[in-house]
Amino acid sequence: MSRRDSILREMGIAPLWRDRASPSPQLTTVEALPNAQAPVEAQPPAAPVRVDAAPARPVAPVVTPVAAPSTTVSAEGLGWDELEQRIRACQACRLSERRTQAVPGVGDREADWLFVGEGPGAEEDARGEPFVGQAGKLLDAMLASLGLARGHKVYIANAVKCRPPGNRTPEADEIATCHPYLDRQIELIRPRIIVALGRPAAQTLLGGEIKIAAARGRLFQRKGVPVVVTYHPAYLLRNPQDKARAWEDLCFARASVV
Ligand code: URA
Repeated sequence: MSRRDSILREMGIAPLWRDRASPSPQLTTVEALPNAQAPVEAQPPAAPVRVDAAPARPVAPVVTPVAAPSTTVSAEGLGWDELEQRIRACQACRLSERRTQAVPGVGDREADWLFVGEGPGAEEDARGEPFVGQAGKLLDAMLASLGLARGHKVYIANAVKCRPPGNRTPEADEIATCHPYLDRQIELIRPRIIVALGRPAAQTLLGGEIKIAAARGRLFQRKGVPVVVTYHPAYLLRNPQDKARAWEDLCFARASVV
C-alpha cells in the first residue's frame, strides 16, 4: 500500500475513495478554466469571482452584507513581526476579553498553500497555535495526503484570531473587525492557493452568503489569488461520510495551484 493510500485509509477515506469510479462530476478540471483571470481589487467583503467554466450549478449570489467592524483595526504595511505583535495585543472586539491569548497563525511565511479556518478553539487558545486539537490532527492528515506538512510550504490561519467563547461561531462583526489581519497575512504570504475550511472561512474570504455544497469544486479568486472551498475538519469528524468529498476538493485545489 502506498504512503498516500495508508494516509487516506487512516483518514477513513480510502475505501470510500476507491469505491468511486471517478471523481464527482461537478468538479471542474483546471484545464477547463480560462487562463486569464482579472485580479479583483475590491475591499472586503470582496465579491467572489467565479472563474470556472462549469455548467450551471451556480454559487449563491452574494446578497448578504458583511457586518461593519465594531472597531477599525489597521494592519496596513505591517511586517510579520509587527503584525503578530498587533494581533497579540489586539483588544478591538469582545473576543479579546475572554481569550487566553490571540492565535495569529502558524507556518511558512512564504507558503504556497494558505488554509483558513474559523477561529481558535480551547486547545488553540491554550497553546497559541491554530488547529492543534482533534480537528487539527485531521487537518495534518489532510496535508500529509497532499504531500504537505504544517510549516513547510503551508500556512494556517483563522478568520478570527481569538477564541469565541464556548467555541461558538464568530459573529459577523467580530470577523469583520479581525479581517485586516487576515488580509495582511494574505498580502505578506502571497500564497498560490487558499483553501477555505468551512462556511465562516469561505464567507470571510469571499464575502456574502456561501453554501459549502454549492461552492465546492469551483475556483474563486480573491485579489488575484485562487480560493477553493471545502468542509471544515471539525465537520468532517462529525460527518466522516464527507471525507471523500474533502479529498476531492483538495485534489481540485492542487490542480488549481498556479
Ligand atoms: N477550528 C478552527 O477553525 N481553527 C482552529 O484553529 C481550530 C479549530
